[in-house]
Amino acid sequence: MKQAKITAYAKINLVLDVLRKREDGYHEVSMVMQAIDLADTIVLEEAPRNWLITDSKYIPPNMNNLAMKAVTLMQNHFKQVPPLQVTLQKRIPVAAGLAGGSTDCAAVLLGINRMYGLGLSQTELERLGAELGSDVPFCIGGPTALATGRGEKIEPLPPCPPLFFVLVKPSFGVSTPKVYGNLRLDQIRRHPDVQACIDGLHKGNALQILDAMGNLLEYSTFQLQPNVKKLKHSMAEAGCAHVLMSGSGPTVFAAFTEQQQAQQYYKTIKPVYPGAILSRTVNKTMLEERVELYGNE
Ligand code: ATP
Repeated sequence: MKQAKITAYAKINLVLDVLRKREDGYHEVSMVMQAIDLADTIVLEEAPRNWLITDSKYIPPNMNNLAMKAVTLMQNHFKQVPPLQVTLQKRIPVAAGLAGGSTDCAAVLLGINRMYGLGLSQTELERLGAELGSDVPFCIGGPTALATGRGEKIEPLPPCPPLFFVLVKPSFGVSTPKVYGNLRLDQIRRHPDVQACIDGLHKGNALQILDAMGNLLEYSTFQLQPNVKKLKHSMAEAGCAHVLMSGSGPTVFAAFTEQQQAQQYYKTIKPVYPGAILSRTVNKTMLEERVELYGNE
């Protein structure tokens, strides 16, 4: 029986700018995305019918789950893909700005491609993934990329030097459409400097990358959920110079160039934020090794 186990990495946005609202209602973005080692685990196995098993009560337990939508998409395109049981161990907080659903979706596409030797290239997988969500193409490629368009156009960037993060996800979620809907671009004077972050990546200069961190969506999310703004200030006061909201929020992360600093900071804030998560950048090797196949001899 064929089986695949896939590690589905979360992402953070090191920098996120919104350029304009398009005629189709979507916003044109420009953002540097980075995969981190916080991950869900997905096991795919052949079964009498499509079926999802998950330990999370916060995600759809049926075919509406993004992992199952990816199964259906592949079965519609490739008749040789049989019914599959998907076992999803959820570690990435849900509705957090960490692309949890998108990365599960990408993991299923990658897993099925390998299990059934479909031979789809990264570009072909990204094109399929874009049908299910703007962040899916990044989650297929990663680990460091510039995303433009509505987030689905991906250009690889030089590997990010090792960075270390402490993430805090408040107990509430935020709706991405609401955050974009509340955005008043004409009232915003200062945009984050995406190019400075890209220059830092080209130079391999970790501090320049951290100094360039910025997220235009903070203006909107902070208005809708002032507690996210408070969280950011409190995390900065706890002793970190580089603190940012990821995506449309509400997760806020503190970033460090040294692992020891991140560990120390984690110890300091854990009593205040028991759900805090210590994480780090994912490199290319980790990404290449994320699919393990069994029973395919
Ligand atoms: P992004 O950063 O891409 O905007 P997010 O981290 O903010 O995503 P998700 O965790 O992907 O948000 O959850 C968004 C919605 O998708 C939730 O309402 C959730 O119920 C739904 N969803 C469907 N499938 C999944 C899945 N496998 N994992 C997480 N959420 C899922």
